[in-house]
Amino acid sequence: MRRRVILLGPPGSGKGTVAGRLKTEFGFDHFSTGHWLRQEVAKGSALGRQAGLFLERGELVPDELVLALVKAALSQTQPDQGYLSDGFPRTLAQAVAFDTWAEVRGLGIQQVIYFECTEALVLSRITGRRSCGNCGRVYHVAMIPPKQAGRCDECGGELVQRADDTETVVRKRFQIYLRETEPLVEYYRKQGSLDVVDASQPSDEMMTRTMTLLHR
Ligand code: AMP
Repeated sequence: MRRRVILLGPPGSGKGTVAGRLKTEFGFDHFSTGHWLRQEVAKGSALGRQAGLFLERGELVPDELVLALVKAALSQTQPDQGYLSDGFPRTLAQAVAFDTWAEVRGLGIQQVIYFECTEALVLSRITGRRSCGNCGRVYHVAMIPPKQAGRCDECGGELVQRADDTETVVRKRFQIYLRETEPLVEYYRKQGSLDVVDASQPSDEMMTRTMTLLHR
């Protein structure tokens, strides 16, 4: 049986990289609301048109839109399939609404892994970040380079720098993270489901620590 897990932490804390590796190396069913939203923007769907400006500005997409997206995506999920969420929930309102929705379906969160990280580290990581425009896998030009420059190891897709990965937008996203998302650390700590990863470590060590926590 797979666990139902949330990865929590600021943008650039490495949770996306760890989630991607858990998916490719261990088959975890990982989802990223940020990746889904970027896909909707690229498709030009109604949701993409509503969400696009928020993404560009580094602001959070309204709770109702994100909740609708996640509920639709998980509506067929069975409790023992588990899930691994990267980037959701991001506000207390999302967390409370999701808890209520998930509990009645037997899909309640079992474990929250918090990637603890400073703003300085986030900035240095994010400027070198590249992600696959097709599958969303995350790389870093110096720390996690792809085998072939500019191409995804996984699917051969083109690696791109996200429009919201500039220093100004990243600083803003970090402030929004502190205000809107960090309170979730206390929320889940009180529920007794929180584990912490020191996100200043290299990606391999974060991966090992996360695996240990997932198997505890
Ligand atoms: P990420 O790829 O997780 O860094 O997300 C990129 C962007 O997508 C964020 O800056 C938000 O604009 C939007 N987004 C992703 N997940 C959420 C969420 N749970 N709630 C609100 N906005 C989100």
